[in-house]
Amino acid sequence: MRLPVDTDRLRADIEANAAFGRVETDDPDAHGRTNRTGTEANREARNYLVDRLRDAGLDVSVDAVGNVAGKWVPESVDPDAAPVAAGSHLDSVPEGGIFDGPLGVYAALESVRAMQEAGVDPDRPVLVVSFTEEEGSTFGDGLLGSSVAVGEADLDDALARENDAGETLAEALSRIGYRGEGLLDPGSWDAFFELHIEQDTVLESAGVDVGVVTTITGITHCTVEIDGEANHAGATAMGDRTDALTAASEVVLDIESAANQTVDTDSETAVATVGSLSVSPNATNVVPGRVEAGVDVRAVESASIEQIVAAVRESLDRVKRERGVEMGFARPFDVPPTPMSDRLRAAAHDAATEAERSAIDLHSGAAHDAMRIARVTDASLLFAPSRDGISHNPREWTDWADCAAATGVLAGAMAEIAGAIDPVEK
Ligand SMILES: [Zn+2]
Repeated sequence: MRLPVDTDRLRADIEANAAFGRVETDDPDAHGRTNRTGTEANREARNYLVDRLRDAGLDVSVDAVGNVAGKWVPESVDPDAAPVAAGSHLDSVPEGGIFDGPLGVYAALESVRAMQEAGVDPDRPVLVVSFTEEEGSTFGDGLLGSSVAVGEADLDDALARENDAGETLAEALSRIGYRGEGLLDPGSWDAFFELHIEQDTVLESAGVDVGVVTTITGITHCTVEIDGEANHAGATAMGDRTDALTAASEVVLDIESAANQTVDTDSETAVATVGSLSVSPNATNVVPGRVEAGVDVRAVESASIEQIVAAVRESLDRVKRERGVEMGFARPFDVPPTPMSDRLRAAAHDAATEAERSAIDLHSGAAHDAMRIARVTDASLLFAPSRDGISHNPREWTDWADCAAATGVLAGAMAEIAGAIDPVEK
């Protein structure tokens, strides 16, 4: 059965949410918002969500890290059954787009409303969830609310984090009225679905309605420190230099080659980026004495990540030997690849078939809350097409019809897993 997702109602919610922290601009294609955790805009966005959850008859709770949940427990449900949850986040990066996060939250709510209007009878409670500080632009590294909920991050550490003004997360949540009690317990959920914009062009290029994510890529961050000798740019002969930046340049190119090679031989999804370089003393008339580089490596298979990291280390050894620089290496951040649940992926494909929507499997190069939730229960990440792949930008866009189509698939998958509709006959 095709659940009656209401495009206009979904659009109204996302547009209402977009007004909180709206970025004013003359560009007709820009729809920016800045919604950082603990701001007035964030309070308004949360209040609006709570009102909409209550309008739909959901029982609203706020946990100790500010995660918001609305629980639908219709009469057909065994209240002790493990719930089916879905959601995403309402915060944004500074001058971000209006779909990144809110689509997943309001699509989850619209899915509940569609099930209610279809008169289906789920066996399991259904939860609509909005996680705190997914973007990490205000209180830290991102995925904070979901990380605390699954025990990956410590609650007290999270609450003690400070924003640029020196206010802690605990203080900010209290100030806006969203410092609740207890914690969401994703480990007790039967399933978690997150619908998100793709932020890439695979779906748009293929002309497909929805992407079913197979794996969220693993991410490794390495820091490389290269010490040469700062010296006078005029008085130091070419043969007498130990230039940290020319050494770093070789390393940067080696990393690009290593990633290209891994793409050719092992995993076409592998990527490696030297995204930051800090040069000291960074003066035009001084031979660079020190460079710090930040390296980001991602792939859907751990072996591919390890292969690129090994190539980085080989490059450091070679350049150290040939140029006489000192090298430091650290690997401060490591998240392994996260496969999504086969059971939920199958439900998503069933739902796409039922709703007569096209769906393809793909991987996600970006981290999402679903990655954290997958550590403790079955998780699924679905993608809606992004125009030109643009996101974290006011020009981020997904057509309303595309939002609704993907929401219809989400709704069908949630309904199947919640026992509200029968699985598709195969
Ligand atoms: Zn997001």
